[in-house]
Amino acid sequence: MYPAAVTNWNREREDALDVTHFVETADRQTGMYAEIGNIDEDALENAVAACCSDSQCLKRREWDASESEEIDVPRGDGEFPCREPCSLFVAAVREFLATERGIGKTNSGTKTNRDSSNRSATRTSDRRSWTVPRSRPSATAT
Ligand code: SF4
Repeated sequence: MYPAAVTNWNREREDALDVTHFVETADRQTGMYAEIGNIDEDALENAVAACCSDSQCLKRREWDASESEEIDVPRGDGEFPCREPCSLFVAAVREFLATERGIGKTNSGTKTNRDSSNRSATRTSDRRSWTVPRSRPSATAT
C-alpha cells in the first residue's frame, strides 16, 4: 500500500484532494535534483509515460506540468489518486534529463520564465522546459 493512499482516496471522495504539480515539486528540489525543472515538455511526457502508466504504477496521476499545462499522457485507471510527483518519479526525471544532455538534446536558451506567484508555464518556443526560480531553500525529493 502506498503511503497516504487511503487518506488521499478519501480526500478525493470528499473533493478535498490537494494536488501539487510538477513545477511546484521541481521548485522544491535542491542538490542532485535541483535541475529537474530543466526537463523539456517532450522528455517530461516520456518520463510520465515510463513511470506513471498503469503498467508501472497502480495510482492514477492527478497532477500535471502546472495548473494550466496538462501532460498529454493518460492518467491511468487506478483507484487511488496520485496527488504529486513521487520520489521515484523525481529520480527518473533526473535520469531522463541526464540522458537527454548526454545525447546533446538539451534546449538551453529556451528556458521557460515563470511567474512565481501563479507558477504557470509560458511557452517560449516549440518546446517548453520547466525551469523554476530558486525561491525556497528547503527541499528533498518527495
Ligand atoms: S508520480 Fe509516482 S506514485 Fe504518482 S503516478 Fe507517477 S509513479 Fe505513480
